[in-house]
Amino acid sequence: MTAVTVRAPAKVNLQLAVGPLRGDGYHDLVNVFHAVSLVDEVTAAPAGRLEVTVEAAPSARVAIEGVPVDGDNLAARAARLVAARLGVEPQVSLRIRKAIPVAGGMAGGSADAAAALVACARLWDDRDDPLLGRDDLLEIGAALGSDVPFAVLGGTAVGLGRGERLTPALTRGTFHWVFATADGGLSTPAVYAECDRLREEHGEPAAMPEVSQALMTALATGDVKGLGAALTNDLQPAALRLRPSLDRTLAAGRDAGAIGALVSGSGPTCAFLAESEGHAADLAAALEGAGVARSVVRAQGPYPGATII
Ligand code: ATP
Repeated sequence: MTAVTVRAPAKVNLQLAVGPLRGDGYHDLVNVFHAVSLVDEVTAAPAGRLEVTVEAAPSARVAIEGVPVDGDNLAARAARLVAARLGVEPQVSLRIRKAIPVAGGMAGGSADAAAALVACARLWDDRDDPLLGRDDLLEIGAALGSDVPFAVLGGTAVGLGRGERLTPALTRGTFHWVFATADGGLSTPAVYAECDRLREEHGEPAAMPEVSQALMTALATGDVKGLGAALTNDLQPAALRLRPSLDRTLAAGRDAGAIGALVSGSGPTCAFLAESEGHAADLAAALEGAGVARSVVRAQGPYPGATII
């Protein structure tokens, strides 16, 4: 086996309901993940030792400065876990081509980890009936981060617990999205901490989160207007407090006729739902014209999880 390339998708959270802070420092979540056609690629090739290189995909305006190129990279951590499970040395070169914004609330690092899991499992074990199946990779992924199993699975799924207990959701048709990326990322732990702080400030204790039935119905029937109305993100007020300029970005999308507009996960990327592919093109042009984003990217969902190409 010479090299294996795997593509893994970014996600947008269609519902992100954040429950009370648990004793272990995490929150109980209802997290409806939706994979979109904005993808990173990871190529795993045999090497004398574990090496990581990171580059921006040619057409993407991704700032890769903050991404570690040592053993801390999530893809490298994934490779080490796969090697340990297979009883081999993690001697692999991982080349990561990023199109997913870094620290953008679209789980780019998790996508790279998922891609590395699938790539290394194949590189080191190419039998027809491999030792590590998809369930094993989902389990290893959960040890790396709450968003990693979903990047392996793809599609649309409801995540419970910390977001890692996944059930695929029924969807119909394709949804068209426009993403406005921002200069500089937001730290996910900082956004959760701000969310806790805001709730304390307003004396609003968090309720136990529940899956939105309006959202599930809109997805199952392919009802784009219903989906737009059902989008929610409990982290949005915290992301807006930390990055007030996102208010202008969201307003520009709404003014340009977006069916739904919200901060993606912990931000700062903003997600806009369009009515059709043509509408997405118009929306993207309007957002570009408004000058409220670092870059404007169109994508469709649901999209498959980590896939060998
Ligand atoms: P999420 O939506 O899951 O909260 P995010 O999209 O906001 O995540 P990521 O791009 O996944 O953020 O990365 C957050 C941090 O993780 C980065 O700032 C970087 O330090 C670290 N990191 C480790 N490995 C990677 C990787 N392969 N790609 C990007 N960031 C990585």
